[in-house]
Amino acid sequence: MKEIYTLADLENWGEESTESGLPIRLGVLGEPIEHSLSPQMQNAALESCGLQMRLARFAIGPRDLGQALKLFARHHFVGLSLTVPDKIAVLNFLDEVDENAWAIGAVNAVRFQGGRLYGYNTDGAGISDAIRSGVLGDASLSRWPVLLLGAGGASRAIARQCALEGCPKLFLSNRTRERAEKLAAEISKVNEATTVTVVDQEPGALRQALTGARLVINATNVGLRPDDQSLISRDSLTRDHFVYDTIYNPARTALLAEAEAAGAVFANGLTMLLYQGARAFELWFDRKAPIDAMRAALDVT
Ligand code: NAP
Repeated sequence: MKEIYTLADLENWGEESTESGLPIRLGVLGEPIEHSLSPQMQNAALESCGLQMRLARFAIGPRDLGQALKLFARHHFVGLSLTVPDKIAVLNFLDEVDENAWAIGAVNAVRFQGGRLYGYNTDGAGISDAIRSGVLGDASLSRWPVLLLGAGGASRAIARQCALEGCPKLFLSNRTRERAEKLAAEISKVNEATTVTVVDQEPGALRQALTGARLVINATNVGLRPDDQSLISRDSLTRDHFVYDTIYNPARTALLAEAEAAGAVFANGLTMLLYQGARAFELWFDRKAPIDAMRAALDVT
C-alpha cells in the first residue's frame, strides 16, 4: 500500500490491496494529506470490527475532485473523509447533503450507497462528543458561555453545535470580522436562546470577552506553525477557564502553553479528530464505532 495515492493511481486502479491483502475501499482526501492520522485511526477500527477493507490517503484537491469521485464510485468505495481544501468544493458533486452539513456549508464525510453520494459533517458532533467525554473536566457546550476563535469551516460547525445544544452565550472572534458577523447572524437563527456577540480579534477585546466566557475554543489556523503567536495571552486567562485547541499537530500550541501558564484546564484537538472519525465510521457502516480501538490507535490518553 502506498503512503499516498493520486488521481493517476485512481485512473489506473486495479484491485489495489494492502499488506494484509485487504482491498482499499475508503479514502481520506485533501492537499496536503501526508500528515493525516485517519489511516491509523480508521484501519484500527476496521480491523477491530473484522471489516475486510482498508482506508488510504489520496492527495486530491478541488480541481480533480469531480473526476475522483466518479472513479471512487466505479471502484466500489464505501466512504471518504475530507479535509482542507476539499470540504466545500465537494458540495458540487453530491446527490444528497444532510441538513446539518448544508447549514454549515461544508462536508467532511461522504458515503457511497446505491450509486448515490451522500454528504455529512461530523465536526460539530465530534467536538461535542470530545467535550462530553470529559477531556476538559466538566466543561459543557450547552451550559457554559463560549469564546470561539475563527469563522471558517470548523468554526461554522462548532458555532452551530453550540447553538443546537443551547449554549447560553457565544462570543465569536475572527481575523476578518465580516465573516464572524455573517456567522453570528446565521447562528442567532439556529437558537434564539443563544446570545451571539462578535468580538474584535485584538487583545483588549478578547480580554474583555474572556471575563464573560468560560470555555475557549481555537478553530483558526493560528498555532499550526511552530512560530505562531497565541491570539490570547496568559494574562487574559484564569484558573477558571477551560481551553480547547482544535489543532492537534503540534500537540502543544502557543495557546495551550498560555493556558497552562495561567493554570487553566486545556486539551488539544486529538479527541475531536477521534470522535468526528468515529461518527464518520458510523455513517459508513451503520454500526457503532469501536472507540477504544480508535482511541488506542491515536494514543489518546
Ligand atoms: P478554514 O475554513 O480555512 O478557516 C481558517 C480560519 O483560521 C479562519 O477563521 C481564518 O480567518 C483563520 N486564520 C487563518 N490564519 C489566521 C491568522 N494568521 N490569524 C488569525 N486567524 C487566522 O479552516 P478550517 O477547516 O475551519 O480549520 C481551522 C482549524 O481547525 C485548523 O487549525 C484545523 O487544523 C482545525 N480542525 C481540527 C479538526 C479536528 O478534528 N481536530 C477538524 C477540523 C479542523 P479569516 O476568516 O480571517 O481568514
